[in-house]
Amino acid sequence: LLQLSVPLNFIGFVYREIRQGLTDIEQMFDLLEVKAEVKDAPDAAPLDIKQGAISFKDVHFSYDPARPILKGISFEVPAGKTVAVVGPSGAGKSTLSRLLYRFYDIQSGSVSVDGQDVRAVTQKSLRSAIGMVPQDTVLFNDTVAYNIRYGRPSASDADVKTAAEIAQIAHFIDLLPEGFDTKVGERGLKLSGGEKQRVAIARTVLKAPPILILDEATSALDTTTERDIQTALDVVSKNRTTLVIAHRLSTVIGADEIIVLKSGEIAERGTHAELLQKKGLYASMWNRQREATQAEEHLKQVREND
Ligand code: ATP
Repeated sequence: LLQLSVPLNFIGFVYREIRQGLTDIEQMFDLLEVKAEVKDAPDAAPLDIKQGAISFKDVHFSYDPARPILKGISFEVPAGKTVAVVGPSGAGKSTLSRLLYRFYDIQSGSVSVDGQDVRAVTQKSLRSAIGMVPQDTVLFNDTVAYNIRYGRPSASDADVKTAAEIAQIAHFIDLLPEGFDTKVGERGLKLSGGEKQRVAIARTVLKAPPILILDEATSALDTTTERDIQTALDVVSKNRTTLVIAHRLSTVIGADEIIVLKSGEIAERGTHAELLQKKGLYASMWNRQREATQAEEHLKQVREND
């Protein structure tokens, strides 16, 4: 009996080691936002990118077969236009951006770019055509310059600086102890959500992709930061096909179309003015957010007067 229990314990140990290794790999994929299960088709061709028109046709998708997330979503982002997706938490907004990037394959319908199904093209070519400004940007434990240059490793110092200026982060960087050479990330200077998002915008400016996905942070930003980020985004998204996953309604006002997603279905769609007139879900979200902003500003004023 004793003889047997030793190897069994050993197997248990090895098993735990392997499990740990798997968890690390899963975490790494999460970090890179890459899913291992999606593979290139054997005859996949590079995406022939023209102007980057996006089309979702009757898309059905679930992470888990028992729980449908998107239930027949159709919309287009014409080349150079901006479409914003809004809606309650958990509605499936971020899922749309993951499907465009093809982190997952859909169950039925199609997602295509310039008329080419994302499943028919190489992932490498698809992803190099898309610039993603995610909710929470992962920074490398390296300098600010390195983190910005990641968007285009061959970029010159001058290009990195210009990108930072466009992203409205140059002034902040100039005030850092070592400027562009300041170390950031987990083991360096920690940047706020708004600062990280601007580093991501600077990366995207360097990458200059035909398609832009902006997944806004849920966390509230102060009015000045929000305005700076908006200015930066207006510049980057100009003449670029842009899909905005919006949490702050201030970013959607200028969108060519706003899609209101609710429980995986399109509840309303139209421009800001059209949707306000409908006095539906969008109008009530808008009013609620405006009241919250006003209350916040009021509170700030009271504090400042103290
Ligand atoms: P929020 O505004 O809170 O960011 P959202 O509208 O962007 O929400 P999604 O992130 O698209 O929502 O998620 C839609 C649903 O899918 C949620 O119920 C979520 O729990 C589920 N979900 C998201 N990612 C996964 C995943 N990797 N595996 C399983 N379920 C997931």
